[in-house]
Amino acid sequence: MTKIKVAINGYGTIGKRVAEAVSKQDDMEVIGITKTTMNYDLEIALEKGYNLYTNNSENFKGVEVKGTIEDLVKQADIIIDCTPEKTGETYKPLYEKYRKKAIFQGGEKKNIGESFVAQMNYNDILGKDYVRVVSCNTTGLCRTIGALYKKYNIKHVEAQLIRRGADPKDSKKGPITQIAPVIKKGDLPHGHHGPDIKTVIKDLDIHTMALAVPSSIMHLHCIQVELEETVTKEEIIELLKNTTRIKMIKYEAGFKSTGDIMEYARELERSRNDLFEIAVWEDSIYVEKCNRVSWYQAVHQESDVIPENIDAIRAMFSLMSAKESIKKTNETLGIK
Ligand code: NAD
Repeated sequence: MTKIKVAINGYGTIGKRVAEAVSKQDDMEVIGITKTTMNYDLEIALEKGYNLYTNNSENFKGVEVKGTIEDLVKQADIIIDCTPEKTGETYKPLYEKYRKKAIFQGGEKKNIGESFVAQMNYNDILGKDYVRVVSCNTTGLCRTIGALYKKYNIKHVEAQLIRRGADPKDSKKGPITQIAPVIKKGDLPHGHHGPDIKTVIKDLDIHTMALAVPSSIMHLHCIQVELEETVTKEEIIELLKNTTRIKMIKYEAGFKSTGDIMEYARELERSRNDLFEIAVWEDSIYVEKCNRVSWYQAVHQESDVIPENIDAIRAMFSLMSAKESIKKTNETLGIK
């Protein structure tokens, strides 16, 4: 089988995880990574056998640089752009110049490519050239709310996002001692997440709000869904249990906070302690007046989007069905 040649532009938090996930597949391979500066990540990347490409070779004295980013793009079948937010758009003209497919991440503008969450709209991106794997929060919301959307008629969704203040290695962001409403100029009603979800589930009536808190690694969501139909709590539990890339957890089993979830992830002994699944507190699921469903869920910000990148590659080359790709990706990444 000819493997799809994948270039990783930007070997940071997401890029290194995508590179490893690609390396675990038998239908694709990493042909190179890019970096702008030399740091501890590079030493390990070279040990793993990745070829380095950069436009800043002066920063990499004593290291074998295989070429420029343009050299890498020319050889690739597809580029997974994992550069910092709003940087991917500056590379799109280069990808277009060589007529290469590209996947962008959630920090890019919505119109850079088709928004994607594998279990919701795999068929929409079959054969497409430019795709955006949506943010970690949007992915998490689409997986769970999407499960209800597929089975029932949703009247309206309200969701509150309790967002981590900073990424684990980000020493410049906060808050450190406060709770901060996420308010951005021109970003009403209340943030970009609701509108972002609608780029995947187009006719969903949803409103979201967000707070940033002094925490890292995980986000927590409080979700309320109003349905046209009446349902029972047991039906919702069954539905979410049978939905891929969701991990049901219980407060009474010791999952008292996001800290316990990450401790559980460490016990799984996956690479980098990643938890690709959205953790849903089963004992938080509540049904009021037979049609208002609410629950808490948590998202490992660094990893839930990784399987989506792998499925997006397969869909963009029309290699297999959504069901087959999700199954293959899950098996290779250890998702049960
Ligand atoms: P990061 O800062 O950890 O990594 C970015 C990498 O790109 C670094 O290796 C950096 O050296 C490199 N880089 C910087 N400028 C570059 C340039 N001009 N050209 C090529 N490479 C360059 O960023 P990240 O957290 O991995 O985020 C990447 C994308 O993924 C963003 O769109 C972000 O919004 C999205 N995302 C991040 C997370 C997360 O938790 N970190 C979660 C979901 C989505």
